[in-house]
Amino acid sequence: MASTRDYYEVLGVSKDADASEIKKSYRKLAMKFHPDQNPDDPGAEEKFKELGEAYEVLGDEEKRAAYDRYGHAAFSSGGGGAGFGGGGFNDPMDIFSQVFGGGFGDIFGGGRRRTRDGRSRGSDLRYNLEITLEESAEGVSKELDLEKYVSCESCKGSGSRGSGGTDECGSCRGLGVVEQRMEGFGGIFRKQVACPECEGSGQVIADPCPECRGQGRVEKVARTSIQIPAGVDHGTRLRSSGNGDAGVRGGSSGDLHIVLHVREHDVFERRGENLFCEVPVSFGVAALGGELDVPTLEGAASIKIPAGTQGGTIFRLRGRGIRDISSGRKGDLNVEVRVEVPTRLSSEQKAKLGSFTESIGEENSPMHEGFLEKAKRFFNL
Ligand SMILES: [Zn+2]
Ligand SMILES: [Zn+2]
Repeated sequence: MASTRDYYEVLGVSKDADASEIKKSYRKLAMKFHPDQNPDDPGAEEKFKELGEAYEVLGDEEKRAAYDRYGHAAFSSGGGGAGFGGGGFNDPMDIFSQVFGGGFGDIFGGGRRRTRDGRSRGSDLRYNLEITLEESAEGVSKELDLEKYVSCESCKGSGSRGSGGTDECGSCRGLGVVEQRMEGFGGIFRKQVACPECEGSGQVIADPCPECRGQGRVEKVARTSIQIPAGVDHGTRLRSSGNGDAGVRGGSSGDLHIVLHVREHDVFERRGENLFCEVPVSFGVAALGGELDVPTLEGAASIKIPAGTQGGTIFRLRGRGIRDISSGRKGDLNVEVRVEVPTRLSSEQKAKLGSFTESIGEENSPMHEGFLEKAKRFFNL
């Protein structure tokens, strides 16, 4: 069962690799082949075991020296003379935990910390919420229907049917751990694992609530109210404390994390605290000046357009943007005017426009002069 492959080859390091190189390579490969990461690949588990075995030897100065001298023979149980101590290898999971420090469940998010009375905190939840630009500017309260664990009403979250309370777990006699005999890597060894009966808490519910089967929480769709403050932006994350999953047996609830998605607006574009929009203006109003109706988040407003306004001119409406969520200061609304060229002219209008154009000549063309200068330079005239 023990690997016969060269341990340096297994860990992908050279014979003269130093301790930190070996550890680094092991960490990388062990993460990759960890059974939790590869639930459908039995080959990965073999690979993971092999890695653990190789690291147990090469990660230990003395064992590595013996291996360098005697090869695999140094560790084969019952093998000839030069044998290095007791033969069998440790559980690869234990080696993994040692290298990563602490339970590997934490690394893959699978671990659930429990206290002695079996309580544990509920999970945090994430919810992507789409809101409109108006809602992000004004703030809004939302009712969300979330599928989550809520405290069991029958037992008030205790997990017990009556006033029952807990009993010492019979399987582990309250220790929370049980010993398991493991066979592998050429030896038999014992290992302590979390008691499957009480999930490591050492206590079991004396008379479990039938509604939640002793969990103290049930899964259901629950309505949750959320207050969105004014000024939030696309991608803003809000934390709603205690609105995640209810904890096990009265443990504290997790949090709800709301990620906001602000829908694109038909008229306004937001950049920081400022809003931008484009408004068409007729050629006549642009040339002669006049009033122009423009949209704002609070409804229509009217601005004065001076005579001779060019297309692309931006008019700023102070304080008509979005309120900064921290400073409370309001941004501006920037209105860019687009001068419209009329289409579908009658023949009479065409004639009038023709004689108008002749009368106006090139000298009354505010952009023309600058353009001519640039063109001359460009063509080296
Ligand atoms: Zn219950
Ligand atoms: Zn137990």
